[in-house]
Amino acid sequence: MDQDIAQILITEEQIQSRIRELGEELTREYAGKNPVIVGVLKGVVIFYADMVRQIKVPCQMDFMWLSSYQGTSSTGGMVVKRDVTVDIQGRHVLILEDIYDTGNSLDFTYRHLLSKNPASLKICTLLDKPERRKPGITLKPDYVGFTVPNAFVVGYGLDYNEQYRNLPYVGILKSDVYEK
Ligand code: 5GP
Ligand code: MG
Repeated sequence: MDQDIAQILITEEQIQSRIRELGEELTREYAGKNPVIVGVLKGVVIFYADMVRQIKVPCQMDFMWLSSYQGTSSTGGMVVKRDVTVDIQGRHVLILEDIYDTGNSLDFTYRHLLSKNPASLKICTLLDKPERRKPGITLKPDYVGFTVPNAFVVGYGLDYNEQYRNLPYVGILKSDVYEK
């Protein structure tokens, strides 16, 4: 796997150190609130597991799984493939995401969960790629791990064709990998 990586953008140490910092902020934010922490599958799994262990308050864990709408003319449309099972009405909800790219997926997730009337709804994304944001998407993540340049990244949960999710760092693939 490592031999397919052209450049490591964020090392394992940098990720873990940033997660500890975010953990301190989120521990303060959610003290006494018993939040529901919702992860968006599958890219978030590695970040989720590390992040929740640094949020040192009682909490509940839940997951959503989205898929792109496979219909005729609709592009960028999303459907819920697996919804949260915890009743989040009146609860403090924190969304964890792998990457905020065009914004379609997070915008959809945010509106979907907001319609269930949580007491509060905040977003923490490991990566933010602001250059790719679709016009019209104005949602601002409350917590960002790292801002990344406009390149396709893999590792630490993020895949290319379902591969590379288990790399402990975030990197950029060599271009010949796409040609294989
Ligand atoms: P969106 O474009 O809706 O903001 O991002 C949707 C999803 O596309 C993300 O949750 C992530 O799974 C995937 N994605 C976006 N940018 C990248 C990237 O640079 N690398 C990888 N591996 N996945 C990405
Ligand atoms: Mg994702």
